[in-house]
Amino acid sequence: MSEHQGIFTSDAVQDYLSAEATLSTEQLSDRLWTISDGKYRTIFVEADQSVVAFDTFGTPARARAYATEIKRVIPGKPVSTVIYTHDHLDHAGFAADLAPDANIVADEMTAKVVAMRAADGQLPVTDALSGAEHKVSYDGAEFVLLNRGPVHGTGHLSAWFEEEKLLFSSDTILPNARYGLMPDYHIANFVKIMRSFLDLDFERFVPGRYEVTDRDRFVEGCDYIEAMQIACQAAFLGFVPIWVHDAMAGFVQNELGERFGHLDGFMEHSGQTAIRIVHHYLMGGWGLEDTPEPGILLA
Ligand SMILES: [Zn+2]
Repeated sequence: MSEHQGIFTSDAVQDYLSAEATLSTEQLSDRLWTISDGKYRTIFVEADQSVVAFDTFGTPARARAYATEIKRVIPGKPVSTVIYTHDHLDHAGFAADLAPDANIVADEMTAKVVAMRAADGQLPVTDALSGAEHKVSYDGAEFVLLNRGPVHGTGHLSAWFEEEKLLFSSDTILPNARYGLMPDYHIANFVKIMRSFLDLDFERFVPGRYEVTDRDRFVEGCDYIEAMQIACQAAFLGFVPIWVHDAMAGFVQNELGERFGHLDGFMEHSGQTAIRIVHHYLMGGWGLEDTPEPGILLA
């Protein structure tokens, strides 16, 4: 069977794309569920006659397993709406396998990237949102979608569920230090924008990877990235060889270990994270997203 293959060009990936996965689902409220394949995580919402699903997981087989799991916990209601939290294929690449007839909602900038990229299996956006905040209602399911500026990927949307006091923000803050290389994170404004979500009333935080967590660990995540940014700037002063992984890892582990060494994945990931962030300061950031007034992206 030939799978939708994203932007892969080699047939060798077919077995990866079709590899079966076991997803586990946890109910968060009367209408809200979270689902994970053990690493990636997303949410879906029961509406009046249908289901609103966020993202798709990152392979056709995982998208199909997502559909199967939704059908199991909410029988008889089709997925009528899929919301892309951002453009990345590992989260939102396979709506064609999850719900081929659904309306696809995303930020207008995500919509442009999706259209231009034309990845196999990532359905085009049918309902593009413009602006920072949207009180949405899809078939009776009401919540708020927020794009307060560039944090990760293009046109990133977070979701706030006021009734549940719950924030969902995919691929931004994690409940640990497993950020790896932080590809396509927009460092200049990332912490400032993520901290701005603390003006919302939420107690639970659902990240796009790993376990459901709470407001305190969301704050700790902001603190960690901010401290990493400061440590990476100190590396210049110390003439640390900033292109060398082991040198940067040793430096930031020494700087941050006392305060953040308890975070899961700190020893394995902090060196890669530091390599990425130190280059932000070296180069000045990546494009318009990393300027002080990134609102220009919306102009
Ligand atoms: Zn992403």
